[in-house]
Amino acid sequence: MTATIGGARTMAGAARHDAGAASDLVLRVTGLTKRYGARTVVDGLDLEVRRGEVFGFLGPNGAGKTTAMAMILGLVAPHAGQIEILGHDALADREAALRRVGAIVETPTYYPYLSGLDNLRVLALARGGAPQGRLDEVLRLVGLKGRERDRFGSYSLGMKQRLGIAGALLHEPELLILDEPSNGLDPAGMVEIRELILRLAHDGRTIVLCSHLLAEVQQVCDRVLILAGGRAIVQSEVATLLSQGAQTVLRVDDPTRAAGILRGVAWIEEVAREGDALLLTMPPDRQFALGQVLSEHGLIVGEMRREERDLESYFLSITGDAPAPL
Ligand code: ATP
Repeated sequence: MTATIGGARTMAGAARHDAGAASDLVLRVTGLTKRYGARTVVDGLDLEVRRGEVFGFLGPNGAGKTTAMAMILGLVAPHAGQIEILGHDALADREAALRRVGAIVETPTYYPYLSGLDNLRVLALARGGAPQGRLDEVLRLVGLKGRERDRFGSYSLGMKQRLGIAGALLHEPELLILDEPSNGLDPAGMVEIRELILRLAHDGRTIVLCSHLLAEVQQVCDRVLILAGGRAIVQSEVATLLSQGAQTVLRVDDPTRAAGILRGVAWIEEVAREGDALLLTMPPDRQFALGQVLSEHGLIVGEMRREERDLESYFLSITGDAPAPL
C-alpha cells in the first residue's frame, strides 16, 4: 500500500522490503551502453527497480531514455551491459524475461473501425489467447467498462491511452513500462492516467514510468532516475529529493534584525531574504528550536512554514535543462 504525502508518493510499498534483497529486484540493469557511430547515447547505465514501486525514468530531450527502454524491451541491441528482468537474463533469454512485462512505448495502434473490446480480442488472439473474463477485468481496471463496444476511432486520446494500457495488462504483467502515457492529454485525461497508475501500483504492480511531465511524476513515483547525456546522474526516492531542497519560510516583525541573529545560529545553513520573508535552509526537525531563538530575541512571528521544492525545479537545478514541451 502506498500513500501520497506532501505531493510525493512515499516508499511505503517498496520500503517494506529490504532494499538490497536481490529477489525484490524486478529489473536490474548494469553497465548498459549503446553507441551510434562515434556517439555513446547510453553510457554505462545502472538502475534497479524494486517490486511494488513506481519508478520514474526522466531526462531532457536526447538523454537516451527511449534507447535505454528499447534495450530493456529487447528492441535494440546494446554494445555492453546486462539486463535482468524478474530473475531472467534478458539478453540471453529475451522471451522468458519479457513474459511478465507489459509495455506501451508509443500511442498504441489499434483498428479505428473496431470497438475497444474487439481490438482487445484481436490482441489477445495474437498473443495466444487470454483467460475467460480477462478482457472484462482489464476494461474495468482502466475505466472503460461501458464504453468497450464503441469504435476505437471515436475514443478520446485519454481513452485510447487507457485501452493501450488495458492491452499491456492482458497477460497480467508483473512489470509495466509506460512511455509518456500522459503525452498530449488534457488535464482531465492526465488525472485519469494518474489515478490509473496509482490504482495499478496499489494492486502491487511494479511500474516504470518515462515522462516529461514532472508534476505527474512527482505525484505517482516512489523513486526516480534522471538521465543526462546517457548517464544516470540521480537515482533517489522522490521524497528525499524534494526534502533536500526544502526551505523554511519565515515572516517576522523585523526581518533585518532576525536575519542577523539567524545567520549566527550554527544549525541554520543559509538565510536568504525574499521581500519581507526570510528563506532558511535548515534541518526539518528544528522548527521548535527556531521558534525559541526568535522568542528569546523578542521577535514576533507572523508566519513559519516549511516549503518543499518541486521535482521540476530540482530537475532544472541538476540538468540545467527545461523539461521538453508537450
Ligand atoms: P526524447 O525525450 O527527446 O525522446 P530520449 O531521452 O528518449 O529523448 P533517445 O531517443 O534515446 O533520447 O536518443 C538519444 C540520442 O541518441 C539522441 O541524440 C538521438 O538522436 C540518438 N539516436 C537515437 N536513436 C538513434 C539511431 N537509430 N541512430 C542514430 N542516433 C540515434
